[in-house]
Amino acid sequence: MKVIMLGAPGAGKGTQAKLISEKYGIPHISTGDIFRANIKNNTELGKKAKEFMDQGLLVPDELTCDLVVDRISQPDAAKGFILDGFPRTIPQAEALTNALNKRNEAIDYAIDVEVPDEVIVNRMAGRRACVSCGATYHMTYAAPAKEGICDKCGCELILRDDDKPETVTKRLNVYHTQTQPLIEYYTKAGVLHEFDGTKDINEIFDSITELLGE
Ligand code: ADP
Ligand code: ADP
Ligand code: ZN
Repeated sequence: MKVIMLGAPGAGKGTQAKLISEKYGIPHISTGDIFRANIKNNTELGKKAKEFMDQGLLVPDELTCDLVVDRISQPDAAKGFILDGFPRTIPQAEALTNALNKRNEAIDYAIDVEVPDEVIVNRMAGRRACVSCGATYHMTYAAPAKEGICDKCGCELILRDDDKPETVTKRLNVYHTQTQPLIEYYTKAGVLHEFDGTKDINEIFDSITELLGE
């Protein structure tokens, strides 16, 4: 099962992708997490990506596409994967389609989590991310057992630099101009399914599992 998540920054893609990954036993591949791990390890890719991420801009396609094509070719992705945060531009979608075409494969489901911009701004202010394992929480809607501490690994939770309100507004603009055209791209491909991302986390997940099957 090959799935991609679409939706604005903060729509809940990562939250749902994680649940899908656990239920269906397919790897959760987040380009944001890959870039943040590279930044933490101070790699060349990390240094380049950081310049764009800090400004709320997309990392250029040249730095992103090969990375993902390579990742989905790993053995653990042979029976499927869930891509979270990729593709984000039409050229990225085309690169993905071409890579899969070569293997006689295609994306089975594009899951679009729809949330209005006003709700996003509030969600991002409350999002907290683990500095170590990348797990995501929300101060109100998905709080950790102990404030400021990751349930999964015990490390510190922080507000991401790019989740500050000024940058969020910029990222939303980038989403509307560069990423939203993918809705039409995957509608034409016949695999787009829209979900109301303003509902409860579990309610959304139930609707998604209805689509993906038990
Ligand atoms: P969000 O939670 O807002 O969806 P991500 O963690 O997916 O954010 O991404 C954080 C940042 O990493 C993006 O704002 C962008 O700078 C960069 N990034 C992640 N995925 C991509 C991608 N597919 N193409 C370009 N840039 C990306
Ligand atoms: P994305 O990966 O699309 O950027 P996240 O999954 O990180 O989004 O979610 C953004 C923030 O909103 C997080 O703090 C998360 O805990 C919270 N969140 C996710 N889904 C919901 C929901 N359905 N209702 C309320 N808060 C949510
Ligand atoms: Zn953690």
